Amino acid sequence: YQAKRDRSGVEVYEVTRDANTPDRLGLLGDLRRALDSGDVELHYQPKVRFDGQVAGLEALVRWVHPERGRVSPEEFITIAETSGLMPQLTEYVLDTALAQIARWRRMGLDVPVAVNVSPRDVHSPGFAGAVAARLARHQVPPGSLQLEITEHVLLEDPQRAADTLNGLTGHGVKMSLDDFGTGYSSLVHLRRLPVSELKIDRSFVARLVVDSEDAEIVRCTIDLAHSLGLLVVAEGVEDDETWERLRDLHCDAVQGWLVAAAMPAEETTRWLRARGERGWQRPAKTPAPA
Ligand code: C2E
Ligand code: MG
Ligand code: MG
Ligand code: MG
Repeated sequence: YQAKRDRSGVEVYEVTRDANTPDRLGLLGDLRRALDSGDVELHYQPKVRFDGQVAGLEALVRWVHPERGRVSPEEFITIAETSGLMPQLTEYVLDTALAQIARWRRMGLDVPVAVNVSPRDVHSPGFAGAVAARLARHQVPPGSLQLEITEHVLLEDPQRAADTLNGLTGHGVKMSLDDFGTGYSSLVHLRRLPVSELKIDRSFVARLVVDSEDAEIVRCTIDLAHSLGLLVVAEGVEDDETWERLRDLHCDAVQGWLVAAAMPAEETTRWLRARGERGWQRPAKTPAPA
């Protein structure tokens, strides 16, 4: 558990990081078993460009607990991070995603898949090599895998993080900076990280149309990213108006319920096939009532 001492030397618990409450211990054991038995699933959410072409898919982990029902990723990822289970979860997600990429490639569907990795992964020694070994084992070209990291990787040991990320890009894996705008990293850090894509956090995208300050943040982020040669993806796009604003701001791609929510693998296959060469088309607007 995460015990800290306050100024008087008394141990205090950080409630949200405490992995040892009975509830969390129960969930942790169940999660460990779910990983062993393959009860944790991946769903895939498309990233599409404004011309409709599918730029890639993001793998998002899903766990339906036999008694509690769906447990949100935010919740069990925190548990995995604080309990030391993160390496197993990440290995599981990587293997499942890589096996699926290989399957799709055999069907003639060649679409890059992004996997979310935690700061723990990036700081674990040998991570870059382990990813390269997994790619080889699944016979997946490195360009078909993308890893999404957050600015939090820079909080602990920026040099170590940069070394790992350089190792990964050296192997040909593309890096994406997720949830941009919510962390504390400086622009200097951004320049130092070998990322090729930046994802604007949903919190800014959601208010883009209604809040002029959020609109300004999004505009500046897109311009900054472009000036550094990065592609920009907006996450959490739910409506037409937001899509149009992002297109006008020269954002490169969007992800969100407007296009599709994360879907199980089979449904993703059908979705990709149905879009075919034309890619995703926005549904025609219903004319406003006269
Ligand atoms: P994220 O990587 O930023 O993923 C985006 C989240 O926004 C996903 O939530 C997705 O389902 C949700 N989302 C997508 N489009 C929309 C939209 O239009 N509106 C709204 N309101 N939400 C949308 P999810 O799947 O619950 O995942 C939450 C977070 O958990 C992820 O945020 C990511 O940080 C983490 N996560 C998910 N899967 C993994 C994984 O395999 N490994 C690790 N380390 N973290 C993961
Ligand atoms: Mg992500
Ligand atoms: Mg994100
Ligand atoms: Mg986010």
